[in-house]
Amino acid sequence: MAEKTHVPTASASLVETRMKRKVIREAIIPAGEPWSAELNRGQVLRIIDIEGQQGLDFLCYNKSNPEERYSAPHSIKKAATLNLTRGHVLYSDAARAMVTIIEDTCGHNDTIAGCCSEQTNWLFYGKNESHGSCRSNFLKAMKPYGLGWRDLVPNVNFFCIVPVSPDGSIPASTFAAPPSKPGDFVDLRAEMDLIVFISNCPQMNNPCSGLAPSPIKTVIWEEVEG
Ligand SMILES: [Zn+2]
Repeated sequence: MAEKTHVPTASASLVETRMKRKVIREAIIPAGEPWSAELNRGQVLRIIDIEGQQGLDFLCYNKSNPEERYSAPHSIKKAATLNLTRGHVLYSDAARAMVTIIEDTCGHNDTIAGCCSEQTNWLFYGKNESHGSCRSNFLKAMKPYGLGWRDLVPNVNFFCIVPVSPDGSIPASTFAAPPSKPGDFVDLRAEMDLIVFISNCPQMNNPCSGLAPSPIKTVIWEEVEG
């Protein structure tokens, strides 16, 4: 593991110049694969769309009490938008801050479409999937933590858009192609100790992964005195 590795930021402040960013962990999540991590309060998770147009599904749970987990309704209502981006907070079902989005170079993240599954691939597309799904990825990643089907809740889809019309209709009834460019990233600051799960979406029946699933990168860091 690298120590005190500098992670480039989109903007530098006076405070940041006095602090070093110590990298805790880096990982490449291969196309279509799950990933999990534990974050301490104050640590930041950067998720990088290496090649662009790669949607990824995200969930988080209170590490000390995983019954408390991300709540899409609370987060959407507090932000007053379906598109959670820079400055917005992901709230728990107990209405407590879990994650603050402190940077977002893409600016488009879906909060309503949930994760893909073998079952919905049949329901929506008439396809029997054989190359995995975000639901099965989440379940695989959650199992070591004692979490399962009953713990799955609607997730955030970073780098994704599901177009919604002013009248509330969803014209395409699914995702548009992700707007993310190669290297786009989100920075997520943990506001409590967390377990986080990512599914790097393998979907091929809609364009949420650009119809060509690709790897993503994660970096966890914390700020220490320089
Ligand atoms: Zn998916």
